[in-house]
Amino acid sequence: MELPRAILVGKNALEKLGEFIEKVYESKRILIVTDKKLMELYGKRVEEVLKMDTILFWEIVLNADFENVKKVEIKIKEEKIDLIIGMGGGTCIDVAKLSAHESKTPFISVPTNAAHDGIASPFASIKDSGRPYSIISSSPLGVLADIEIISSAPMRYFRSGCGDLIAKVTAVRDWQLARDEKGEYYGEYAANLALLSADVIIRNSEKIKFSPKEKVRDVVEALISAGVAAGIAGSSRPCSGSEHLFSHALDVIAPGKGLHGEKCGIGTILMAKLHNLDYEYIKSALENIGAPTRIHEIGVSREEAIRALLLAPKLRERYTILHKVNLSRDEAEKLIVETGTD
Ligand SMILES: [Zn+2]
Repeated sequence: MELPRAILVGKNALEKLGEFIEKVYESKRILIVTDKKLMELYGKRVEEVLKMDTILFWEIVLNADFENVKKVEIKIKEEKIDLIIGMGGGTCIDVAKLSAHESKTPFISVPTNAAHDGIASPFASIKDSGRPYSIISSSPLGVLADIEIISSAPMRYFRSGCGDLIAKVTAVRDWQLARDEKGEYYGEYAANLALLSADVIIRNSEKIKFSPKEKVRDVVEALISAGVAAGIAGSSRPCSGSEHLFSHALDVIAPGKGLHGEKCGIGTILMAKLHNLDYEYIKSALENIGAPTRIHEIGVSREEAIRALLLAPKLRERYTILHKVNLSRDEAEKLIVETGTD
């Protein structure tokens, strides 16, 4: 089991970054992996709150791919970095996490939006020739989430994070299916923890609809908790199932359309129907949140969605409902039409 040593979630938490680092790991040469906009926005504040004797380096990344991971690894080596901070959304955190893991350097996650559960998980999502790969990495040593900063990110990211959380419903179902039919290891505690993080969002979807800003903290905590569930399981099983395969297939077939959690949310409706779960309930929760429930809302055509459903089980051998039912083209189209996700 690999879990973060310290987690700080709160308003203006960034002001405490210096103290937080001191508590988590004694370091002198820190590298912050971020993007240009965030460096302009928060760079000065970060420099002010760090200890006087800290030498700070910055690395700007554009994409979560192996080229950027390599670039960061070189910098870690050349500058003798002893702590890495990934500050930003998925791209910055994934690149920082994997390069830290590869170079055996401790890593702290500082998310600036609540779009996905990679904030605290031991997995990094990296693209290679356009294809996404989920790579086993290390859990962050610490997570510092500034609610003020995360609340100021576009609400679309927040809604996407809710989609990534609701996805745990079908991810856990797929895991149970693999346990029952393939004798795969199933960790009940990790599974229940992931389900709890989905449940918090589904039960509160009405409240999220009317006062989303007040629920940012709950969503951030649920995302961290889902990442911890993956750390406990030692696998992404509790967090990622057939709905994630559908999202990854769309990454290949319709690149650049929709955010990760938006695609997972729609995927959850589809996979819930295949699992004979109450897909309407999941759909209405996503609707309440304001997350997309139809593929055309994210610019994906019916043809692209059908192809994604057919490609999804081929992306990974890990057993899910898509491997069990082995959809034909007509069945895939019927599923989209029947669930009203067109
Ligand atoms: Zn996800």
